[in-house]
Amino acid sequence: MAQISIEHLDKIYDNNVQAVFDFNLEVKDGELIVLVGPSGCGKSTTLRMIAGLEDISAGKLLLDGKDITTTPAKDRDMAMVFQNYALYGHMTIYENMAFSLTLRKEDPNVIHRKVLAAAEILGLTDQLNKKPKQLSGGQRQRVAMGRAIVRNPKVFLFDEPLSNLDAKLRGATRREILLLHKRMNATMLYVTHDQTEALTLADRIVCMSMGHVQQVGTPLELYDSPANLFVASFIGLPPMNFFDVTVQGDRLVSGTFSLPLRPAEAEKLNGYQGKTIVLGVRPEDIVVGDDVPVKVFSNENLGMNTLVHGHIVSGGASVPITCKLRGWCDYKQDDEIRVNFNKRHFFDKETTEAIR
Ligand code: ADP
Repeated sequence: MAQISIEHLDKIYDNNVQAVFDFNLEVKDGELIVLVGPSGCGKSTTLRMIAGLEDISAGKLLLDGKDITTTPAKDRDMAMVFQNYALYGHMTIYENMAFSLTLRKEDPNVIHRKVLAAAEILGLTDQLNKKPKQLSGGQRQRVAMGRAIVRNPKVFLFDEPLSNLDAKLRGATRREILLLHKRMNATMLYVTHDQTEALTLADRIVCMSMGHVQQVGTPLELYDSPANLFVASFIGLPPMNFFDVTVQGDRLVSGTFSLPLRPAEAEKLNGYQGKTIVLGVRPEDIVVGDDVPVKVFSNENLGMNTLVHGHIVSGGASVPITCKLRGWCDYKQDDEIRVNFNKRHFFDKETTEAIR
């Protein structure tokens, strides 16, 4: 059992930089939460406050109902896996994994059993007598996870654990973390700046910007219904396209195109007659059609899809657009094509909030 209540956490560093503002989250037992956002948005600070590695400036932290706001890190029953692995180079893999238990003076037989069990889970059984430098980056990362597993903590905390690995290993290790999560049914908090990691790993994502939580939800909720322009632009790759459009009667009018509103959209945009709003369209929600003229700039074949970068050009105006079209397209620079927008997202230009 490990349920975490994070209530109104603030972090103000000694130099008066406020890194985290009013962070609230109820983490359910066995949940894998991913904190995601650009560098400097306060993810690690939040994780480190939960781990007890940073003082909490204001707010409260409860683990299974017990207030641990000021409990020292070593007594929190949480294990953290760092991005730089933090392995001891002079010790074997076995000794590295056993280290925290040896410090705690656990029975050597128990230590032996726990290290072998963790090594088995992580596929490290054959590596136990080696030194860290004899292992690949991916294996070292697994040793770092093994060190956390042997402690059998209530909560696992991961701080960008994959950022030192190459793309292929990142994918493989990501799947291992998912398997580990399923197998151990453990409560996990995971920090990354990589939206793909967030979408593929999380039960729920917490998306942050400049110390503030922007949205909490399942990966699908953040992808399908982003709460504001920040989340809309951060989640999804290539990022969502944005266009300034004015609501005029039953049409959306921009400097370069004019589109009829669908009935449900017209209802949603009822209060915005005559106003300029932001229209958001994901590249993968664009299809070849007849509504919007696009002048092709470049054509990138990805196999199943083609990324077409271009401009919507009309009169003297020109707006960039990226389309992810189905299949293998062979457009040349300056080709003129027409596209339609399937799903359309709307945002208030002033508040940047989604119009729902
Ligand atoms: P992230 O993990 O999202 O990259 P951090 O939590 O590391 O962001 O940092 C959030 C903000 O707090 C940044 O502006 C960073 O410069 C600042 N910060 C981080 N650590 C310290 C520190 N020890 N002292 C002062 N400011 C810090």
